[in-house]
Amino acid sequence: MDAAPPTVAARLCAECGLCCNGAMFHMVILQPGENPRALAALGLKIKRKHSLAYMPQPCRAHVGGCCTVYEQRPQRCRIFECRTLTRLANDEITETAALEKIHDARRRLAHIHELLVRAGETNAEHPLSKRCDAITSDEAHPPAVRETLAAALGEFETLLDADFRITPLAPTVI
Ligand code: SF4
Ligand code: SF4
Repeated sequence: MDAAPPTVAARLCAECGLCCNGAMFHMVILQPGENPRALAALGLKIKRKHSLAYMPQPCRAHVGGCCTVYEQRPQRCRIFECRTLTRLANDEITETAALEKIHDARRRLAHIHELLVRAGETNAEHPLSKRCDAITSDEAHPPAVRETLAAALGEFETLLDADFRITPLAPTVI
């Protein structure tokens, strides 16, 4: 979210949101020195798993394509830069090419959301993969529904790995 020229990154992130809306990650782990109470006071949902404090995704602060707590966002949000922004910052791709990748990902995500809604899965509080699992692992749904959704998610994950996730995935995943 930081390394490409700010105005370009801001434009692209406003069109994207994949690292905030639960499509790419399940959570943002808080770091030593971060104050969970202060973040909760901003309206962020904070949970604990073992000794780790984290913000589950979709993030409550992601509203209208923007981060509503941008100046106070957690450390891992500050340091995360997706592959597409890195390639743009390195002049490996143009802003137009980056935008096309984002729009392609968003189209695929919208299609998965349609499949989920058609299957009766409307829990927008859960991350995408968990919502998909709820359908694909439930034999009450017709095989064709489960297979179509699994295939769409698989293609989307492949795209995320190629163009957005970084290695290791550590910035926002336990
Ligand atoms: S995945 Fe990349 S382009 Fe999309 S919102 Fe996150 S940092 Fe911005
Ligand atoms: S705090 Fe802001 S940057 Fe971090 S996940 Fe939430 S919306 Fe995204």
